[in-house]
Amino acid sequence: MYARGDAVIGVDGAFSAVRLSMQEKLQKFDYDESYLAHGYKELTIPPGPDGSWQMEKEALHIWPRKSFMMIALPNPDGSFTCTLFWEFEGPRSFKTTKTDEDVRRFFNEEFPDAVPLMPALLEDFKNNPTGSLVTIRCAPWYHKDKVALVGDAAHAVVPFYGQGMNAAFEDCVVLDECLAEFPDNRERAFAEYFARRKENADALADLAVENFIEMRDKTASRTFRAKKKLDHALEAALPGIYLPLYTMVTFTRIPYAEAAQRARRQDSIIYTGLTLISAIIVALLIHFIA
Ligand SMILES: Cc1cc2nc3c(=O)[nH]c(=O)nc-3n(C[C@H](O)[C@H](O)[C@H](O)COP(=O)(O)OP(=O)(O)OC[C@H]3O[C@@H](n4cnc5c(N)ncnc54)[C@H](O)[C@@H]3O)c2cc1C
Repeated sequence: MYARGDAVIGVDGAFSAVRLSMQEKLQKFDYDESYLAHGYKELTIPPGPDGSWQMEKEALHIWPRKSFMMIALPNPDGSFTCTLFWEFEGPRSFKTTKTDEDVRRFFNEEFPDAVPLMPALLEDFKNNPTGSLVTIRCAPWYHKDKVALVGDAAHAVVPFYGQGMNAAFEDCVVLDECLAEFPDNRERAFAEYFARRKENADALADLAVENFIEMRDKTASRTFRAKKKLDHALEAALPGIYLPLYTMVTFTRIPYAEAAQRARRQDSIIYTGLTLISAIIVALLIHFIA
């Protein structure tokens, strides 16, 4: 189908045809894609016999296994969508897990508590595709007053902060603001939109990859859990002053780049403070014992 318009807004996802045509036709177009060594497969925990959730529904469930993980998110119909994030290749990986027996053995070893809740595990594993996890960065996101990229077409990120769709909506808000600010100059509006969003999309891309490591590896560690508790205690003690990174990213409209910067500042203040307090306690103990 052919159609003519004043401008094209490319909202055609991570493998955008609009972006591809910019890549092919524009001389100065930066493009970078990087794939994780992990793929993902969706599996299901159906509702229980009474139609209700078979696990706590007010939670994101994580089975952290250091180099890989499974997560489960509740759906309104009583089911959970589980996603296994696992290496594509390696001694234990999607590639080497082929038969029903391989799948059964792997799940019994790694997720024995989940297996009884997944009656369709073998069919799901066989029938559901193994997806890849890509981060795409490109620049610029516009060409003259003719084309602008929005959402995954401009900045696909890996899904570990659960922010890809939100970032796409934020693009829409900012693009809308820019078009309203420069009603007679669409190229300027596109340029402003790109300038305001690019560093935030880049920051989100980094945060999303970091959160994968946090979810699959660190959530099992005591130190990490202690840090999370401290985060919540400080948030309660200093409302509006101390905001954990996750809170800023997920529950506020603080731009991603600013949230990441603020979290780094907060961390350095907290850790310097804790180190000082520990040093004072040790010095006092030595003083009184000596
Ligand atoms: C496993 C996984 C889990 C995720 N979980 C979350 C989450 O919890 N929270 C969150 O916010 N985000 C999540 N995301 C990311 C989220 O799905 C995307 O960021 C979001 O869908 C991007 O929206 P979009 O409109 O830019 O692109 P898309 O949703 O990909 O939409 C693009 C549309 O364009 C259409 N299209 C493509 N090419 C053409 C063409 N040539 N012609 C016409 N139409 C075309 C496609 O069919 C599609 O409908 C997840 C992603 C993955 C892979």
